[in-house]
Amino acid sequence: MMEENIAAIATPAGKGGVAIIRISGKSPLALAEKMFTPAGKTKVADFEPYRMYPGRIDAGNFSDYGLCVYFRAPASYTGEDIVEFQCHGGESVARGILKQTFRLGARPAGKGEFTKRAFLNGKLSLASAEGVADMINGESEAEVKAGYLLYSEKLTEKVRVLQDELKTVLAGIDVSVDYPEEDIEEEHILEIVPDLTRLTAEISSLTKSYAVGKKIKSGVTVAICGKPNTGKSSLLNRLLGYDKAIVSEIAGTTRDAVEGTLEIEGRKFNLYDTAGVRESGDRIESIGIERAEAIVRSADLVVFVADISAKVDEEDARVLEMVQGKPLIKVFNKTDLTRDETETDADVHTSAVTGEGIEQLKALLFEKGFGERGEDAAFLIEQRHFEALQRAGESLNRAISACNNGAPLDLIGIDVKEAWDALGEITGETATEAIIEEIFSKFCVGK
Ligand code: GDP
Repeated sequence: MMEENIAAIATPAGKGGVAIIRISGKSPLALAEKMFTPAGKTKVADFEPYRMYPGRIDAGNFSDYGLCVYFRAPASYTGEDIVEFQCHGGESVARGILKQTFRLGARPAGKGEFTKRAFLNGKLSLASAEGVADMINGESEAEVKAGYLLYSEKLTEKVRVLQDELKTVLAGIDVSVDYPEEDIEEEHILEIVPDLTRLTAEISSLTKSYAVGKKIKSGVTVAICGKPNTGKSSLLNRLLGYDKAIVSEIAGTTRDAVEGTLEIEGRKFNLYDTAGVRESGDRIESIGIERAEAIVRSADLVVFVADISAKVDEEDARVLEMVQGKPLIKVFNKTDLTRDETETDADVHTSAVTGEGIEQLKALLFEKGFGERGEDAAFLIEQRHFEALQRAGESLNRAISACNNGAPLDLIGIDVKEAWDALGEITGETATEAIIEEIFSKFCVGK
């Protein structure tokens, strides 16, 4: 489907080497004819697709020498005709050229509108479009990779196989319902139960991968706890490799939770330094303590820090009590202050000053955060996909119970169809306009 021309700057705001202005729609080449003068004798109308042409981009006071390329429908990102200009990467130049495309009839593209058109034109599935966003927003190596796999239709392919199998089951049900001799129906019910059971197991193994996928996307949340002056802020700085938290010798100065993001073996960890937990008459500090407790509650794991050069006391015990029940890494810090090997029940001994034990601590964070390394491929990273798969699984479980309870086949068929529809929300076939709008509203303009 060829729609009106939309245009946007595809490169980020700011100064850079090059900026790209993208126009997609029914006639971007005709528009380019009015604002691009190719070098030499070539005419815009004779442009070969997918070839860069140098020339002058005419945009009044914002004219520039640059490049123009034409992508011919349907072999383009959106599935429509696309023209892109490359100009010098100044914000004003790019905006001036963009405005010229508006004067010549293009309309400003909305958020994610290019990708939305690509989806509507069948260039990619809805899940794949979400993968594009995950790649763009991805911070860690694992997140970008998971986004890439989603974008490459790896999840969609799996889901389509499930959908095809459900369709076969549904076709069988239709045949039996159309020829309702009782024996056939009962026989048929017995036949489909194993199929439905197997498909439910496949769906469940996919939903299980969300436990890791969720952490890949959001990061593992780590609360660093311990009484004041044990070296929590210093350890955080060591882990992050730069000075983020304020380090101070006066006990109780880290009042706010300081966040820093760290990548360990390609996976994201969000670290929170908590205020020193101790009895305090100071109001600001007690607010900090409440906040620390809230962070601990929502953390995936806790790093408990004690000072190896001091005696473990009641205050340490109180902190340990607060973090009880959470996956825990016990750290004894300031090893540089002790001359002898000290026996402790710590998981790791560190020194934020010399860096001793920091790599071990990172390895422990990874181990406790993710457990087994696991298969890196095709994790579910989107909550939307997880929920759709869960609903599909629930519908199939209902269908299986109905089979076992001797329900009529057409009723069983309704549950199976519901499962198919839930899976279609992932690929986009059954996604409502509201879901589609919501997904593309999270994109940036120009994508
Ligand atoms: P927090 O209150 O637990 O966050 O502790 P800080 O990180 O603010 O550190 C308190 C004091 O201990 C500061 O003077 C740090 O320089 C010092 N400190 C932190 N870690 C170490 C360490 O491993 N060895 C030594 N010698 N001093 C440390």
